[in-house]
Amino acid sequence: MSSKVIEADVDESFAADRQVVIEHLAGINPHAQLSEQEKSDYKARIKALLQQHNAVLVAHYYTDPIIQELAEETGGCVADSLEMARFGKEHPADTLIVAGVKFMGETAKILTPHKRVLMPTLEATCSLDIGCPADEFSEFCDQHPDRTVVVYANTSAAVKARADWVVTSSIALDVVEHLDKCGEKILWAPDKHLGAYVQKQTGADVLLWDGACIVHEEFKARGIEDLKALYPGAAVLVHPESPQAVVELADVVGSTSQLIQAAETLPNREFIVATDQGIFFKMQQRCPDKVFHVAPTAGSGASCRSCANCPWMAMNALDNLADVFERTDNEIFVDEALAEQAMRPLRRMLEFKKS
Ligand code: SF4
Repeated sequence: MSSKVIEADVDESFAADRQVVIEHLAGINPHAQLSEQEKSDYKARIKALLQQHNAVLVAHYYTDPIIQELAEETGGCVADSLEMARFGKEHPADTLIVAGVKFMGETAKILTPHKRVLMPTLEATCSLDIGCPADEFSEFCDQHPDRTVVVYANTSAAVKARADWVVTSSIALDVVEHLDKCGEKILWAPDKHLGAYVQKQTGADVLLWDGACIVHEEFKARGIEDLKALYPGAAVLVHPESPQAVVELADVVGSTSQLIQAAETLPNREFIVATDQGIFFKMQQRCPDKVFHVAPTAGSGASCRSCANCPWMAMNALDNLADVFERTDNEIFVDEALAEQAMRPLRRMLEFKKS
């Protein structure tokens, strides 16, 4: 597929750092050094293994395009974390190969304990998960017993087990609105930006845990304004894990699936997108005639220059996928009692979505 994704090139200082950006991205692109023949050999091998083991590949929108392509070519799915969980649960395969980050593998295992769940690497984690250790979180909940505990899907099984509700970004607003109408006060974790957005939109009483996504937190409002001046017809699509100043510039704020849908349905031909650039694969596939610009992450004092690329998602690669069945260090196990506790808030989420 020809890429129409354009890296942000906002001002001279940014342009000067372009090479740094490209090198950074090449550094985390697991397939940068592979020839086309090597990629094709890997794909053929993985396809055969999936068939042989009655396994299905479930990939997140933020994984490398080649992994997303492979999931689709082999009858698996590419989706957000909620749809990944649903797909894995309903698919008849004995083994789920989850290409994403660890909490997604855990969620798959909790929902389908009878299936084997493997991941290309268990080292693929998430700053939100890391920033919300179960013991500290539990203490925080104990300090606020009057609040309904709502946690984002990007958390460990132990944190989910402590919650009343689990939500993804696609249903966070609806769930909190519902709880607010029921007169409940919320304790929200772990993403403070998404929590603040939900609080603002619903007017609910929300107490926030102090966590953030290292990818979305880097988007800069100033850079987006500059880019918007260059492309005045572009619509701005923003994931709500981004800081408030960035969210305020958005034409559409939403989950990965909602942003893809917005790219399809809005009449604009160009878009500035503030989320992980893995999403461009699906946007470009659905909208081949539209043009997508990566929202800038540059800014004075920024540690990351337009990466917009989750280093943990990038760990899902053809080589570790090709030996996913051979290793012994990549299977997801969740303690049975913990899984049972975590299942309660997860079930609420799944049933809420269906209602
Ligand atoms: S993009 Fe952010 S929220 Fe998503 S897995 Fe990476 S660190 Fe976590």
